[in-house]
Amino acid sequence: MAGSTNGTRTILRADLSTGALSTETVDELLCRKYLGGAGFVTYLLWKELQPGTDALGPGNKLIAAAGPLTGLLPGTSRHCVGAKSPLTGGIAKCEVGDVWGTELRRAGFDAVVVEGRADRPVYLWIHDGEASIVDSGHFWGKNTKETQEAIREAQGDDHIAVAGIGRGGERQVRYACIIHGLASAAGRGGLGAVLGSKNLKAIAVRGHKAIEAYDRERIKDIRQAVLKSLHVLKSFQEFGTGSPMEHFEQIGNLPVRNFRDGSFPGVKSITAQAVKETIGVGMHGCYGCPVRCKKVVRVDEPYLVDPAYGGPEYETLASLGSNCGIDDLKAVAKGNELCNAYSLDTISVGSVVAFAMECFENGLLTAKDTDGIDLRFGNAEAMIALIEAIAKREGIGDLLAEGTARAAERIGGNAAMFAMQVKGLDLAMHEPRLKPGLGLGYMVNPHGADHCDNMHDVFFVTKEQIADLQPMGILEPVPAEDIGPRKVALFKLTQLKAIVGDCLLACLFMPYGAGQLAEATAAATGWNTGVVDQYYAAERILTLARLFNAREGFTTEDDRLPERFFQPTTDGAMAATSLDPDLMNSARRYYYSLMGWDRKTGLPTRERIEELGLV
Ligand code: SF4
Repeated sequence: MAGSTNGTRTILRADLSTGALSTETVDELLCRKYLGGAGFVTYLLWKELQPGTDALGPGNKLIAAAGPLTGLLPGTSRHCVGAKSPLTGGIAKCEVGDVWGTELRRAGFDAVVVEGRADRPVYLWIHDGEASIVDSGHFWGKNTKETQEAIREAQGDDHIAVAGIGRGGERQVRYACIIHGLASAAGRGGLGAVLGSKNLKAIAVRGHKAIEAYDRERIKDIRQAVLKSLHVLKSFQEFGTGSPMEHFEQIGNLPVRNFRDGSFPGVKSITAQAVKETIGVGMHGCYGCPVRCKKVVRVDEPYLVDPAYGGPEYETLASLGSNCGIDDLKAVAKGNELCNAYSLDTISVGSVVAFAMECFENGLLTAKDTDGIDLRFGNAEAMIALIEAIAKREGIGDLLAEGTARAAERIGGNAAMFAMQVKGLDLAMHEPRLKPGLGLGYMVNPHGADHCDNMHDVFFVTKEQIADLQPMGILEPVPAEDIGPRKVALFKLTQLKAIVGDCLLACLFMPYGAGQLAEATAAATGWNTGVVDQYYAAERILTLARLFNAREGFTTEDDRLPERFFQPTTDGAMAATSLDPDLMNSARRYYYSLMGWDRKTGLPTRERIEELGLV
């Protein structure tokens, strides 16, 4: 039986400067226009941040938002976190799993806005409709595990969900992340540094309220249908991410030594299969998700790796592994553990280490700069030493804590050639020479070179692969190497699909179809919604993110790939393949026009802004 409409949302606002806590209700039209999650985060950042706000100052706001499906279906125990990025200077947002988002809704809130700066270390404690700002001075300086334990002990509940930072966030490393439940990261763009800048050690939540849905029976039916379809994820359940890494190396998708090379025979030592066979001790998952795709590892020698911090996902295996020329799995696992303990984004850490290694091999950094560390590709001990130095901002770690773009500027010479970043955000571990559509995504994504709201060109090359997209008008496969108008249209569609997922907080690994998500939204909220409505919302949100960045001074010059990708790799499958700069620029301009943005300036047109209801 359908209940009353469940379309409004409650925001908790915490001003750390004054200690004021308040709640407000978001009206239903706004909820429909922005859906939730990434939509709420984008809207609130646009509406509430002053242009030119210092990302590490009290004027920045840290916003966490669940979505209308959070906690109702498998793979939706997620939320989105965002702020102005200390790394890019533009908008940043990340989706993250674990149980935090579900606990937030059970506590009676859909979103949290944290503003100002506390005059002493604190944490925000949210529970069953209440909130308080609590002193955390006695565990400032502690790692994320000690922080979680301290909060749970202080509040007397082992099930409190903690989103917190370690030393990296406290020291405002520009790519510090927020760690949830010790193994799930709101990873990209430096959101952990924003917490650190606010003297906010953690946001802890616990709730006991049932999460309401307009039509529980329909939600139940959708849950059953999804559970039945999970057989397609059998191998993923066994290994998690990273099982095709040997294949990636063969086809040219694996970043090797800072995206410079292509051949990496040691890859077999760092795959998900290698993890399972050597250091894996189990799998775990986000709340309510039977897939349980997250690895748990344990190492006893030569390093101790605590299984509480989970295990390395594909992005980490590649960034701390092949991209640094390292095939020592135990060292990669140690690096992953340190990043989770210190709250550092493993993708940016791997990128900055690889960048420093290439600078070192080219004489731009010397042993004098590195306190004697031999920063050659493949040196696992050097990688681990750098993570320690970065988290503590000691020695060269202080420079590298600024991120590859800023570090390259300070090092000078041709160091910028070795900084694999777009808008300041380091490339995720997927190769644009193989996937030009993904390269376009790296260029135009408002958050920088992100892989989540992006496409993987090799997944749309057969009729079977595009079967799901036929109702959206994609009737023919598009070759992986194509970067013409058909690929751009396909990219736009996959990007919109991903943004809808980010708003509804449906895990991208789960086999939800677009129609199913729209039906689930209608069942959760009572809205008369559908796929067109939701994709339209995604265009609205992307356009608003574009406007946010334009307000911060971003131009088309910021939509550029590193020069490296216009040359082939030194060896491997991409040794004779590179991107064509003219074709990539044509694709970029065509994407602008498909989005209703000016082809030349990349700015949303006045008509588009009006049409989307942004004024
Ligand atoms: S598939 Fe994996 S990442 Fe996604 S919700 Fe399930 S356990 Fe979490």
